[in-house]
Amino acid sequence: MLNPQEQISQIQQQLNQYNHEYYVLDQPSVPDVEYDRLMQALIKLEAENPALKTLDSPSQKVGGQALKAFTQVTHQLPMLSLDNVFSLEDFHSFVKRVKDRLNNTQALVFCAEPKLDGLAVSLRYENGQLVQAATRGDGSVGENITTNIRTIKSIPLKLRGTLGKDFPAIVEVRGEVFMPKASFNALNELAKKRGEKGFANPRNAAAGSLRQLDSKITAKRNLAFYAYSLGFVGNTTSSEGVDVTDIQDKSESIDLTELFFANSHHARLCQIKALGLPMCPEVRLLETEQACDAFYQDILTKRSGLSYEIDGTVLKVDDIALQKRLGFVARAPRWAIAYKFPAEEELTTVDDVEFQVGRTGAITPVARLKPIFVGGVTVSNATLHNQDEINRLGLKINDTVVIRRAGDVIPQIVSVVIDKRPDNAVDIVFPTRCPVCDSAVAKPEGEAVLRCTAGLFCAAQRKEAIKHFSSRKAHDIDGLGDKLVEQLVDEKLISTPADLFRLTEIQVSTMERMGKKSATNLIAGLEAAKNTTLPKFIYGLGIREVGEATAANLANHFCTLESIQTASLESLQKVSDIGGIVAKNIINFFKEEHNLAVVSDLREIMNWPDIEVKSADEQPLTDQTFVLTGTLTQMGRAEAKTALQSLGAKVSGSVSKNTHYVVAGDKAGSKLTKAQDLGIEVLTEDALVVLLKEHGITF
Ligand code: NAD
Repeated sequence: MLNPQEQISQIQQQLNQYNHEYYVLDQPSVPDVEYDRLMQALIKLEAENPALKTLDSPSQKVGGQALKAFTQVTHQLPMLSLDNVFSLEDFHSFVKRVKDRLNNTQALVFCAEPKLDGLAVSLRYENGQLVQAATRGDGSVGENITTNIRTIKSIPLKLRGTLGKDFPAIVEVRGEVFMPKASFNALNELAKKRGEKGFANPRNAAAGSLRQLDSKITAKRNLAFYAYSLGFVGNTTSSEGVDVTDIQDKSESIDLTELFFANSHHARLCQIKALGLPMCPEVRLLETEQACDAFYQDILTKRSGLSYEIDGTVLKVDDIALQKRLGFVARAPRWAIAYKFPAEEELTTVDDVEFQVGRTGAITPVARLKPIFVGGVTVSNATLHNQDEINRLGLKINDTVVIRRAGDVIPQIVSVVIDKRPDNAVDIVFPTRCPVCDSAVAKPEGEAVLRCTAGLFCAAQRKEAIKHFSSRKAHDIDGLGDKLVEQLVDEKLISTPADLFRLTEIQVSTMERMGKKSATNLIAGLEAAKNTTLPKFIYGLGIREVGEATAANLANHFCTLESIQTASLESLQKVSDIGGIVAKNIINFFKEEHNLAVVSDLREIMNWPDIEVKSADEQPLTDQTFVLTGTLTQMGRAEAKTALQSLGAKVSGSVSKNTHYVVAGDKAGSKLTKAQDLGIEVLTEDALVVLLKEHGITF
C-alpha cells in the first residue's frame, strides 16, 4: 500500500503525462473521464493532506504549455480553466459556496452556456483590427496563432461599429475554436482512407488543426468559433495615427471595460456579438438554480442534434461586480462552474473476440467487453467490423480500450491504451473456416470483409435469412421473433423461409417455451403473411444491397417476379438507384440453384396483386427531380421516395440546380437552406400528400 505522498506523486506523474498527450501532442490516450477521475482523486488526497499540496501540482495549474515552434504571447490577463461538477448536488453546493462567500441569500442570476469542446483562444483587436490571436497555453503564455486564426471565416478581421464609441483601442475577445462534427467526421474518414491515424475527438482535431505551422492546412480544416468573454480591454495601441485621446482622457480614472461594456456577462456577450463575433445561439440568462438545471437537461437532450460537440454546460454568475468580488483561485474563477455531462467515452477491457456470421455470410469480429456504463447504457459488446479495423486499432485480446457511445449511435472502440497492455495480450486470429458451419471462407477481391461461402447451407445465414424474411419491413409475421426463428432452425423444423408455411400448430405448440396460444397466433400470422406485395416479396428475399426502396423500384419497373428473375445486367441498371454492383448481386442471387428452389417454393404459397405496366401518362412526374429532407410525419421517407418514383420522379439525396422540388419535413436543415438559396420550389409534407393524392397515392 502506497503512503499518501507516494500516491499523490504517482497520480501527479500520470496526470502530467496525460496533460502532455492532450495539450501538446493533441493525442490523448485515455478518455476525459479517466483524467477527471484521477484529478478528483488528487484533489481529495491533497485536501486530506494539505502539507503535500504544492504549487506545481496539476491540480493547481492550467494544463497546457505553449509549443516552442510558435512565437509566444504573454497574456495581459491570464486565461484560466474552469472548475467542474458532475452532479446536480455538486452544482447546488457550488451555488451555496458562492452565496456564502457573498453573504448573500438572494437568488443569483446566471449566464448559462454550452461547454464547447474545442480550445480557448484570445483574439486581440487594436483600433478594431485583428492583430493577434493566441492559444491559452499554460494560462500565462500561449502560442501566437494569428495567421491560422485569420483562416477561420467566422472570425472578423475588423470589428463592426465605431472606435471610441462602440469599442476602445484594445479589445481582447476570448472564446472557443472548435471543429463542427461534420467536418471532424469527414477529416477522420479521409485519414482512414489514407491509412493515417485520425483524431480522437473534435476537440483534439480542432487543436491539431489550429496549432499548425502551415496555415494552409488550418484553412482546409473548416474550424468555427464562438466568443464567451472579454479579455484585456485598454486604450493604448501599437499602431499609430489613431486619435484615442478622447478615450484616454475619459479613462484616466475609469476602468475602460466598464466604460464600454455592460455590467452583465450576458449583456457583454451580446455586445461582442454586435461587434461581429459569433456567439453560441444556445446561451441564456437564467434567474434560478432550477432554471440552470433545466438548461442542463435541455442541452443534454439537444446534444446529439447540435452540429458541434459539447461536454457540459458552463454557469457563470452574471453580475460583473459580483464576479469581481468572488475573484479567482489558482486555476479557475470562483464565479463559474462547468457542469459536465455524463461521459460518452469510457475505459474497459476486451475479454474476447468472437466471430458472427451475418445474413450474407459476412464474418464480423465482435469484441466481448467487460461490461461498462457509458453514454447512458451498459455496453458489453462492440463490433470490430473487419480485419482492417482491427489493424487500424492495433487491438489484441485483453487490451484496455476507449469505448464510445454517443446519442443512439452503436458503441464503438475508439482506441487501444497501449500503456495499459497486459502481458497476457493475445493476437486476434481470424477463422479459416466458418465458425458456424465449418465451410470454407473467402475474402472477395477489393472487399475488406471475410465471408462464409456456404450460403443458405450455413445455419447462421439460414437463421438470418429467415429473420429478415419475417422482419417488420418484409412480411412482418406476427408471433415470430428472432429467438423463435433460431429455435426452429436449431430444432431442424425449418431451413428455408418456405418451410415456415409448412409448420403445424401441433409442431409449434410442443416446442419448449411455446404454449398453445402462441402456436395458434404464429400459424395465424403465417397465414396472413401469405398475402403480400411484390416489393415486399423482393425485399424479403434478402438479396445483398437490395433494400426496401430498391425492391420497390425493381417491382415498379419490371412489374412481375419472372421479369426480374430473367432481367439482364443492362436492363437492371436502367432501374432508378441500381448500379453495376447491385445489378450483379441480383443476377448472382437468381443464378443460385438453391435460391431458385426457395423462390419457386414461395411462389406456390404466397400471393400478391399484379402491378400494371404503366403508360407514360401514369408516370406524370417523369424527368422531375425531388429531394426529401427533414422528418416526414405522415409517411416514412422511404415510402415517400417509393411513391414518387412510382410516378416516374427521380429522388436525389442532394440539392443542386437540377433539383425541381425540395420536400421539407420537420427540422429540415442545410438542404432546405440550399434550396432557398438556389430559388428551388419547396413543398411542405402536406403539399406532397396532396400531390401524391392527385395521382392516386394515399397514405
Ligand atoms: P476544461 O475543458 O475543463 O474547462 C475550461 C475550458 O473550457 C476553457 O479553457 C475553454 O476552453 C472551455 N470552454 C468551453 N465553453 C466555454 C464557455 N462557454 N465558457 C468558458 N469556457 C468554455 O478545462 P481544461 O483545463 O482545458 O481541461 C481540463 C479538461 O480537459 C479535463 O477535465 C479533461 O476533461 C480534459 N483533459 C483530458 C486529458 C486526457 O488525457 N484525456 C488530458 C488533459 C485534459
